[in-house]
Amino acid sequence: MCLSVSPADSTRAVVPATSFLDEDLFCPSPVLVSVMAASSWLLPVALVVVGVSLSTSATAQARHPVYWEIHDTSRAQPPVVDPGPAPAEPRPAPSDAVVLFDGGDLDAWEHPDGAPAAWTLRDNHVEVDTGRGDIQTKEAFGDMQLHLEWMTNPSVTGRGQGRGNSGVFLMGTYEVQVLDSYDNPTYPDGQAAALYGQYPPLVNATRPPGEWQTYDITFRRPRFDQNGSVATPARVTVYHNGVLVQDRVEFTGPTAHHDRPPYEAHAARLPLRLQDHGDGAVRYRNIWVRELE
Ligand code: MG
Repeated sequence: MCLSVSPADSTRAVVPATSFLDEDLFCPSPVLVSVMAASSWLLPVALVVVGVSLSTSATAQARHPVYWEIHDTSRAQPPVVDPGPAPAEPRPAPSDAVVLFDGGDLDAWEHPDGAPAAWTLRDNHVEVDTGRGDIQTKEAFGDMQLHLEWMTNPSVTGRGQGRGNSGVFLMGTYEVQVLDSYDNPTYPDGQAAALYGQYPPLVNATRPPGEWQTYDITFRRPRFDQNGSVATPARVTVYHNGVLVQDRVEFTGPTAHHDRPPYEAHAARLPLRLQDHGDGAVRYRNIWVRELE
């Protein structure tokens, strides 16, 4: 492991560095080193390249959860970005998509125990029915492109994590947070579009409660070796209301409450799950998936 630079906040490290950090660290290649040694006139140019690399690397490191306590309130709040108005109508699904919910019924969904999905159908959307539990797809998915639209209760109640909390659990395991994060401060790694407990979004692109919001997610499932160890972590890119908020970010492991547990080997395909956090009145519509493997 090459540790030629330390981020400004490296003193915040809360757990030992592990191998998954390596790709975030800058290591000048042997070729670059030899060229720099042989050609003095190239040195200024090389230093500029190195500087840019160091800056990018430090930024990536500073975001890494290893440097932060879970739900650390001293992490910077993501800048607020106005994503523009919500589309009037749901975006039509592509022709090759698996449509999971188009407003008509919940036939593609069930309770995790296999009972019928018990959330409330209204007009063209489905609403979390508090206390009825999560719902998950009957079909299982691995790598995928996911589109869904969600809205938090226009009648605002609660604050922080108690305001419009739900979640999109990829493979039922890795959560992209759903929350009313419009003028509702909470710990950054728990706001809307956070990889819950791990990565805050790059920016806060949340629309006001009562307006439809979109997630467009590209997810690559983790790969495990024959010993059950993670060979390639799960990786995700998320656009919130069309704004990039997670850029090929690797989950550190499964989502958990006040914990960041390590990966455990699991199947290559698992259901997509939506969370009943107990806040109620979070709505979803227009959910579709394009399978990528
Ligand atoms: Mg949640």
